[in-house]
Amino acid sequence: MSVIKVNKLLDELNKMFPDIKSDLNYSNTFELLIAVVLSAQTTDQRVNSVTRKLFSRFPDPYRLANARQMEVEETIASLGLFRTKAENIIALSKRLVSTYKNEVPDNLEDLLTLPGVGRKTANVVLSEGFGKPAIAVDTHVSRVSKRLGLTKSDNPDKIELDLQEYFPKDKWGKAHLLLVHFGRYHCKAQNPQCSTCPFNEECLYYKQNLT
Ligand code: SF4
Repeated sequence: MSVIKVNKLLDELNKMFPDIKSDLNYSNTFELLIAVVLSAQTTDQRVNSVTRKLFSRFPDPYRLANARQMEVEETIASLGLFRTKAENIIALSKRLVSTYKNEVPDNLEDLLTLPGVGRKTANVVLSEGFGKPAIAVDTHVSRVSKRLGLTKSDNPDKIELDLQEYFPKDKWGKAHLLLVHFGRYHCKAQNPQCSTCPFNEECLYYKQNLT
């Protein structure tokens, strides 16, 4: 398996996305957590279209914990799975109030106890919200990593381990953001822009499908 050198990968991705930041709008770790939970199976733009109103009506865990489910559902109704998401963000807010003194916990173990929070969401919160080393594996990270030969696995937990070995620890959070943006805007699931890709000499997908 051909694996691109990590320095080349990071250098080129940094050139492609020089001022990278999350596409989700948030102003604190609570809002980030809620936005990431809402982003399952929908776009960040759609999430942003509901969170301004959601956060102004329910700006902290206490107020969201005490919201009526119907009010929350109405506010996020344009999102897929909105009923389940409303239930989860109310339930996780209740847990933040009852167990974590109204704060979002800053470690994986506690984050994973929150309703609706899986490993990907927890890792995004750790890296983007708390600046801790973590690599979240979503559909973009998974696809790009496989195409580039950084992993052979389809299992997100194994991909996370492979990427942790490949990237230096102090670059884990940045690498996640760069791979997400690369997958979202360049190496798309359909019609990836291979002819202008700086990695096409090393890319397994390119070699197998387009040469
Ligand atoms: Fe993606 Fe194509 Fe670049 Fe490979 S060559 S990483 S498939 S855009």
